[in-house]
Amino acid sequence: MPDPLAWIPEQLELLESLERRRTIHIRSTQQGPNVAWKDREQINFSSNDYLNLAADPRLQAAACAAIEREGWGSGASPLITGRGQSQADLETALAQFEGTAAALTFASGFAANAGVIDALADRGDVILSDSKNHASIIDGTRLSKATVRVYPHRHLDYLENLLKQCGTFRRRLIVTDTLFSMDGDLAPLPELANLAEAYDAMLMVDEAHATGVFGANGRGLCEHFGLEDRVAVRVGTFSKALGGHGGFVVGSQPLIEWLVNRCRPYIFSTAPPAANAGAMLAALRIVHDEPQRRTDLLAKATWLRTQLREIGWSLGDSESQIIPVIVGTENLAMSLSAKLYEMGMLVPGIRPPSVPDGECLLRISLSCGHTQQHLDTLVAALTELRL
Ligand SMILES: *Cc1c(COP(=O)(O)O)cnc(C)c1O
Repeated sequence: MPDPLAWIPEQLELLESLERRRTIHIRSTQQGPNVAWKDREQINFSSNDYLNLAADPRLQAAACAAIEREGWGSGASPLITGRGQSQADLETALAQFEGTAAALTFASGFAANAGVIDALADRGDVILSDSKNHASIIDGTRLSKATVRVYPHRHLDYLENLLKQCGTFRRRLIVTDTLFSMDGDLAPLPELANLAEAYDAMLMVDEAHATGVFGANGRGLCEHFGLEDRVAVRVGTFSKALGGHGGFVVGSQPLIEWLVNRCRPYIFSTAPPAANAGAMLAALRIVHDEPQRRTDLLAKATWLRTQLREIGWSLGDSESQIIPVIVGTENLAMSLSAKLYEMGMLVPGIRPPSVPDGECLLRISLSCGHTQQHLDTLVAALTELRL
């Protein structure tokens, strides 16, 4: 009998022949600036644990306490019986942290983006989306029955022209990452807010990499730019700087109630475990109490970008803790990553489908846990590899 899945090994072999077959490895120690990878100790420049909280004992203790109070699993979706006290407390604390009327937590940031876009835009509406938005935003636009128009990365004139042509749609939704995950550059948020107001559009932003890092209180780039009252829908994730797991949306009470009623990944997915909510309550408290984590991180990032640009590496428009070393070809990106690995540093090469062909890069991501010695080691290696 023919195997109906025979096409899969064939396709995998095709990926293999293109050297694009991905495999997963075990990270064999705890999180932190040092990590064992394939059983070798490495300085970790690949994690999104920007505030070095993933292995913080206070988060572990809070998670354990939540398990003791509420057990492990949540048993059902939040609307059925799944929403426990820890999750409710986390949503209250998150709204307070973000300075919004309400907040809603999701199983992942991916689910939050995909579901929120689908809940906000339907047939007869139009979504305007930056070409470098995260895959979860792209999938949200695909789930929605709205018309989708993609504008070139951060291209405001192009976007404005599109908006001029979109007056006949029922509603308009502009959606963007605030801090782009591969390039480390920032969305032009003040201008986007102006355009949204001028053309009667909803503005939705994804603060996944900015929460906990930017803004006087660590709320992200909307706070940094003083735009919190002008951005209607803010998505974020607990899985990066906050060191945990799960996504969230913050905004007005009607927005959150609409999502409770219409957002399918919220309605049809089991509520996250109490342990995570407990740990994330502790993380929010740390972000509030220890602002030096984010100021220290951003100072280290500025220092490293200056050094690498002086050596002559191209970092694009990075202004953040995500520092892409743009090298172009896939071969070069992967061979530089392998050489850095041999030198004791984990710096992933990023290639299609994560970036367009010919725009391959090394993605350095910094944590406030990196020491000056860690950074010096990286600069020395990238100096040697530049020669
Ligand atoms: C990682 C990421 C997400 C997804 O968040 P998870 O909680 O990991 O699912 C969403 N948006 C952006 C920009 C991201 O980088």
